[in-house]
Amino acid sequence: KAKSEGRGTCHFFESGMDATLQRRRTLETGLRDAIANCELSVLFQPLVSLKTGKIAAAEALLRWTHPKLGMIPPVEFIPIAEESGLIHQLGGWVLHQAALAAGKWPKHVGVAVNLSPVQFRQAGLLETVQGALARADLAAERLELEITESLLLEDSQANIDLLHAIRGLGVKIAMDDFGTGYSSLSYLRAFPFDKIKIDRSFMSDIATKDDSRAILRAMIGLGTSLGMVTVAEGVETEEQLAVVKAEGATLVQGYYYSPPVTASDIAAMVEAETVPPATLDKRAG
Ligand code: C2E
Ligand code: MG
Ligand code: MG
Ligand code: MG
Repeated sequence: KAKSEGRGTCHFFESGMDATLQRRRTLETGLRDAIANCELSVLFQPLVSLKTGKIAAAEALLRWTHPKLGMIPPVEFIPIAEESGLIHQLGGWVLHQAALAAGKWPKHVGVAVNLSPVQFRQAGLLETVQGALARADLAAERLELEITESLLLEDSQANIDLLHAIRGLGVKIAMDDFGTGYSSLSYLRAFPFDKIKIDRSFMSDIATKDDSRAILRAMIGLGTSLGMVTVAEGVETEEQLAVVKAEGATLVQGYYYSPPVTASDIAAMVEAETVPPATLDKRAG
């Protein structure tokens, strides 16, 4: 009995592997032509000032609709793009789209773009950033690049030098998903970030657990005392909003205000300066 069960399990496992590999290959092939086939789009999620209630910036978030498989989440296709090298092309495209979109917004509203550590490994990142700003006629100060701790884990001195060069253009640098890595604190010494984005995993029970709230308070205090803007990511409820506000975060980003929306929707939002009541009503449904 044990033997046949073992065989069955093994067979099941192998076919599972096949399906995973097959999907991966399909996605990698599809990704090569995704830009040319107009399957990619960039959505924007507002970052709202807790002091004024107004939209200070929006984060560009890449979306891919595969013709047969439908919507593929970035957590699935970004790693494929990184391993296949396609991230250079994709990342450049996102930068360009984001800069073009922001060029149409009021001048006090910034745009944030995520950068993969892989994009730092190829020469020309600085020029790509400069090119995107120039083509969109966007002031460098309005662009913010979000990086994660994994970048500083790698070939750190070269990456830090490149970050300084990019920052030298006037572009702002944010540490994304702060608190999720192994040594977040030491990275704060490695580079003078303009902003830290406190990972959304820290928001889940800040309204109900004193310990969680204390950790959030410490992270906001740390960022503030280093002169950085602090962002609370993934705020979904009014209760969470009240806590991050009371603890003194600068900005909030999350479904409470708005999910990522299309370029035309964000343009209307930033023009009105705030997230419209219609969006706030919809988010519950
Ligand atoms: P991220 O940069 O930390 O982006 C925030 C993610 O949290 C987004 O997921 C956003 O939709 C989601 N989010 C925002 N508010 C809430 C909330 O209140 N609740 C919950 N549950 N989620 C919320 P998304 O768009 O699926 O992106 C996932 C990750 O994929 C991003 O995390 C980023 O690391 C990566 N990514 C997305 N676009 C790009 C891109 O253009 N380039 C690169 N390199 N990475 C990207
Ligand atoms: Mg981000
Ligand atoms: Mg994040
Ligand atoms: Mg994240």
